[in-house]
Amino acid sequence: MVGVIFLGMKSDLVLELFIPDEEKALNFFRCIRWSNGVYCPECGSYDVYKRGYVYNKRVRRYSCNKCGKNFTDFSDTIFANKHLPLGEMFYIILNQDKKSVNRLSEELGHKWESIDRLSKEFKEYLEKNTKDPVLSGKIEIDEMYQSSGDKGLKKTIQDAEASNKEEEARGKKTNHQ
Ligand SMILES: [Zn+2]
Repeated sequence: MVGVIFLGMKSDLVLELFIPDEEKALNFFRCIRWSNGVYCPECGSYDVYKRGYVYNKRVRRYSCNKCGKNFTDFSDTIFANKHLPLGEMFYIILNQDKKSVNRLSEELGHKWESIDRLSKEFKEYLEKNTKDPVLSGKIEIDEMYQSSGDKGLKKTIQDAEASNKEEEARGKKTNHQ
């Protein structure tokens, strides 16, 4: 999706921002996170059912039949409890090394403080979680921008499956929400 913003009153410059379409971003995220099916982050059971949406009806909510835990697409991920659309968060992750916080906040129309906080969180997270199935390398997100069929997405999903298997081999992580 291409967003267009005007850079200030004096300027005639129009900048095109390639912000991932929200629905596409969410589908991309779900394809990777739930590549083997939706499972409960608490007990690991696949016996779960959908329970509507949260975050302005964008993100799916589920319940576990085994342990009764409620969770969402974002539970136990860096994207939980964030107020920005996922597409914009992908945009920040993709551009935070190339653009200043000032620039990003201007482009996205959010407060400097919000972008600064998010950017720091993402950087810290990426340093610790280099094999995160969703964010293991910005290349995967880059591929969402390529409109050359679905080649990029397919490759990304395969990579994610490989990462998931590594993840399983290392054992389940703690720190559930
Ligand atoms: Zn459960």
